[in-house]
Amino acid sequence: MQVAKTIAEMRELRRHLSGSVGLVPTMGYLHKGHLALVKQASAENSTVVVSIFVNPTQFGPSEDFRTYPRDLNRDLKLLEKEKTDIVFMPSDEEMYPPGFSSWVDVEKVTERLEGESRPGHFRGVATVCTKLFNIVQPNKAYFGQKDAQQAAVMKRMVADLNMNLKIVTVPTVRESDGLAMSSRNTYLNAEERQAATVLFRALSLARQLWQDGEKDADKIRQQMTLLIKKESLAQIDYVSITDADTLEELKTISCPALASLAVKIGKVRLIDNVILE
Ligand code: AMP
Repeated sequence: MQVAKTIAEMRELRRHLSGSVGLVPTMGYLHKGHLALVKQASAENSTVVVSIFVNPTQFGPSEDFRTYPRDLNRDLKLLEKEKTDIVFMPSDEEMYPPGFSSWVDVEKVTERLEGESRPGHFRGVATVCTKLFNIVQPNKAYFGQKDAQQAAVMKRMVADLNMNLKIVTVPTVRESDGLAMSSRNTYLNAEERQAATVLFRALSLARQLWQDGEKDADKIRQQMTLLIKKESLAQIDYVSITDADTLEELKTISCPALASLAVKIGKVRLIDNVILE
């Protein structure tokens, strides 16, 4: 496994690669969800590049950029085991040198849900991913279904700006009780960790109601909301049923739809979703 810390080093490694290159962008503190992306990239490409970069521009001023969990040594060991070919781990200064002033803004699909709750978040994500795509020049880039809106934004951006790569979405990896794996789960204390299962319970309820024939999106949102409100540590940010591609809120469910939510458990904001199809 080779490690590139600068853009020049990464470009030099890329110059010698032939065959298909798969990129897995991450912010590190890796778990089985990240490793599922690496495994799929490995199965579908000659070379796998994993980037580790806690991107400051996608965090709001009151968010957890400084305290975001980091453990590079552990990450490198995990990636070595997965037979990653190249790890790209640039510094903040390398990615955002003094004078940096160009941004990528994806409209519409970023307006609601995470975009509404976290102003500027997707501008940071779109900008850093554009930079990573330009530096690594992958044939495919892998994103988790866990961050469904992020994957939708990537697909829109790549289509709109004629970027020469395919965005691949990988299913969400969960703990045995359904909680979606996330680097931020580490912030939860034992009581909160137990309460955090309410996200998956609400999404499972949505799926059950829909499978039983309920097509009225409002009724499903209401049932999900009621269930979450029974959990005293949980505070709802949003509960949503949208078109899975445009992320426009639905009145009546026509396939495929995305049931998604953001819930604070204590101080920890968690997101999750399931596709209804
Ligand atoms: P992050 O390090 O949180 O920016 O995540 C890097 C990538 O891993 C993103 O594409 C995420 O959607 C994906 N990811 C994070 N958690 C999971 C999970 N539990 N299952 C599948 N993919 C995930």
